[in-house]
Amino acid sequence: MPHLPAAGGGRVTRPRVVVVGAGFGGLCVARHLAGKPVDVTVVDRNNFHQFLPLLYQVATCGLNAADVAYPVRGIVRDHANVRFRHGTVTAVDWERRVVAVEDGELAFDHLVVAAGATADFFGIDGAAEHSLPLYTLQDAVALRNHVLGRFEAADADPALVEDGALTFVVAGGGATGVEVAGALVELFDVVLRRDFPDLEVERARVVLVEMGDDLLPPFTGPSRTVARSTLEDRGVEVRTGQAVVAVEPTRVRLRSGEAIAAHTLVWGAGVRAGTLADVLAASGVPVGRGGRIAVEPSLRIPGHPEAFAIGDIAATADGRGGFLPGVAQVAMQGGKHVAGEILGAIEGRPPRSFRYHDKGSMATIGRRAAVAEVPLPFRRTLRLRGTLGWLAWLGLHLLYLIGFRNRLSVLLNWAWNYATWDRGPRLIFGSRPRR
Ligand SMILES: Cc1cc2nc3c(=O)[nH]c(=O)nc-3n(C[C@H](O)[C@H](O)[C@H](O)COP(=O)(O)OP(=O)(O)OC[C@H]3O[C@@H](n4cnc5c(N)ncnc54)[C@H](O)[C@@H]3O)c2cc1C
Repeated sequence: MPHLPAAGGGRVTRPRVVVVGAGFGGLCVARHLAGKPVDVTVVDRNNFHQFLPLLYQVATCGLNAADVAYPVRGIVRDHANVRFRHGTVTAVDWERRVVAVEDGELAFDHLVVAAGATADFFGIDGAAEHSLPLYTLQDAVALRNHVLGRFEAADADPALVEDGALTFVVAGGGATGVEVAGALVELFDVVLRRDFPDLEVERARVVLVEMGDDLLPPFTGPSRTVARSTLEDRGVEVRTGQAVVAVEPTRVRLRSGEAIAAHTLVWGAGVRAGTLADVLAASGVPVGRGGRIAVEPSLRIPGHPEAFAIGDIAATADGRGGFLPGVAQVAMQGGKHVAGEILGAIEGRPPRSFRYHDKGSMATIGRRAAVAEVPLPFRRTLRLRGTLGWLAWLGLHLLYLIGFRNRLSVLLNWAWNYATWDRGPRLIFGSRPRR
């Protein structure tokens, strides 16, 4: 196998850091190692960073795919010691300290695994085959194609409405499920109703199914109540205490025995570590719940002091007997910590434990409706809801989006959607709609 040069053009003069994944965590590592005495190579199977929190807006025609993605080379090019490699990491040879990509190998002195998560279907019959997850940009475009495709099919043959063509079941009452459900009813109500004048669009249904007793588990009671009542006021049928037990092309079966006639199941019910964690587990790396890499307090991979795992692929203890949630802040703060650990190891400093600072949670429900909770000193919580929560949500997402062009484009799209009650990118494009 050819030995690919890492950053630094092959002249191995400084410690080589390989970062697998250009998501929130991986990019944070690279940013904090920029300009430092190391050569960093970021590897990703996509040549772009994707901003996962806004995928649901791509799926529901609010934003273009390119608005929520940014080429990684454009991010790293300003840093002389950071390079990008486009490829999928398929294995790690711990003895030789190399990672395998499709077309070769990359040597490392320090390794950071930040390869994210993927949908977990929990072995539910038919779920992997017939549901639409939302974890990548490709997923978002596929869901958009599918939703628009079902409306086109029902327009051509109205009998399909009875068969469930316009019934959209969303599994999972976490932030993703709530955001998708809220955005779908809004899309139907304000846009597709006008696009399909011959179709009884008011017969379109969005059913949100959650196994627990309430929506938005990380939030406190008042925010959950607001989220539920806002969704119901907008027309979403919320079913809590219900679980999807089987999925067929046109039926979603619930634990209660009910079979919902639906051509669409959006899967937001569970995530597990990305497949790279399975590969590492096979090489003896310990994994925990959802296949996540069970890291040490310093975020090192047990048995491999030169390697770290951060973000969604890692099971990071929260110090209270549980684990930190799979959110962007955990990945980003983990990335910053690991950059410090690598520099510390080079300087001979002992490992330090990672400490997470919870900055709060947010979920949007739709136009001028969101819930946000920010922890304050003395165990108090700032709760925002309605328009204020929504504006806070918009501002924060704009802030974290990478690239001025993307920010401007998202802002313009949002302003346009808000002012005109319209959605621009409602295209069936890029991949075949799924049935
Ligand atoms: C729909 C959705 C909405 C969300 N909304 C929010 C939100 O509002 N707020 C919030 O805080 N969090 C949100 N999250 C969670 C948040 O996005 C994740 O916690 C965060 O992205 C984790 O960062 P990461 O770096 O661990 O992984 P990711 O950001 O997922 O990045 C992983 C990267 O690794 C790459 N990769 C994977 N396998 C390989 C391989 N074998 N070889 C090479 N590259 C590989 C992937 O292409 C990807 O670029 C949301 C997630 C989803 C799916």
